[in-house]
Amino acid sequence: MEIVVNQMELRSWIEIDLDQIKQNYLIYKQKLQKDSEIMAVIKADAYGHGDAHIARWLSEQGCHLFAVSNIDEAVGLRNAGIKGEILILGYTSPKYAKTLSYLDLTQTIVSEVYAEELAQTGQKIKCQFAIDTGMNRIGLDGDNSYLCEQIIRKYSSCLDVEGLFTHLCVADTDDEECRTFTYGQIRKFKSVADRVADLKLPYIHCCNSAGGLYYLKDDADFEGIGNIVRLGIILYGLKPDNTNQLPKGIQPAMTWKSVVSMVKSVLPGETIGYGRTFKVKHEMKVATIATGYADGLNRRLSNNGFVVINGMRANIVGRICMDQTIVDVTNIPNVRMGTNVVLIGKCGEIDYTADDMAQDLGTIGYEVICSISKRVQRFYKTHGLLYAL
Ligand SMILES: *Cc1c(COP(=O)(O)O)cnc(C)c1O
Repeated sequence: MEIVVNQMELRSWIEIDLDQIKQNYLIYKQKLQKDSEIMAVIKADAYGHGDAHIARWLSEQGCHLFAVSNIDEAVGLRNAGIKGEILILGYTSPKYAKTLSYLDLTQTIVSEVYAEELAQTGQKIKCQFAIDTGMNRIGLDGDNSYLCEQIIRKYSSCLDVEGLFTHLCVADTDDEECRTFTYGQIRKFKSVADRVADLKLPYIHCCNSAGGLYYLKDDADFEGIGNIVRLGIILYGLKPDNTNQLPKGIQPAMTWKSVVSMVKSVLPGETIGYGRTFKVKHEMKVATIATGYADGLNRRLSNNGFVVINGMRANIVGRICMDQTIVDVTNIPNVRMGTNVVLIGKCGEIDYTADDMAQDLGTIGYEVICSISKRVQRFYKTHGLLYAL
């Protein structure tokens, strides 16, 4: 790998620990049955981590299966020189049939109507059929496995059908109702897969991060339900659901940092920020930091969230602005212009993860990391070296 050391752009930036991503990948892989492979889900810019870079790094670890959400992401990866399978999980207009075929991309078939339109283009496109087993999002109706079989057979002559998959919608929840539902989804999927077993499709898969963890480990009942896990969130070290326990050693790979631009004292009677929502009661010391909601710091954390400075919590006071945020540093020593701030990650004794921030916001870690905007520069760390692209 080529390492280019740039000067850090010290405003708002992310440090991504590639060695941690490698560790997450390897630990998870070990948990799977021996013949199962990982398809790295790197949609949405690898959940904010930088898709081309993560794909390249994972390729070096032996991963050759990737999934993205749309054709733009797929083209970006090919332009960056990424080889191997790239499965587009969502809809692509049949107008792009030639691009799909030219770049050797694999398109998900979202419905029978879609299969027909793609076939009409005359291109022999690589594709995989989505089977809907209860999520009601995309796919052929898994309740009718006979019809699924007919459709798959019909199109396997004019399209290059490479696989089948379904998506589990409650695999992250470990209660009886959800388990029963998930087993039902897997059963429906398996009955479609069994009907077309003679086609010997190379890719049969139904597990996301959560599914792979709970349903693919040495479970004899489910032998043959697939040979791939589509691994997204756990690759980045976060939990599918906050109630989940991740295998030991799997940790977040991302640290979001910023800096203090100025420090000042404010007196009782003064107010802070837009809308004057924070009223100063006692003399306090506040610091302005160079990150705001346009960087992806959710504005709902106004007067509510905190950042970490010198290993201590600094509460956000007043409304988060577009590019700046004001925090209370009254009790934190040695805060001055240029002092580093951690918005997500470890700092001293405090480890505030994207999952923790998600809890504070009433959302999921996925949304927190996908919301960190493009202007927040990504830096990569491996073997103790930090570099930019
Ligand atoms: C996003 C996505 C995944 C990855 O899900 P995680 O929960 O992040 O592992 C897998 N499969 C499909 C179809 C997806 O859309």
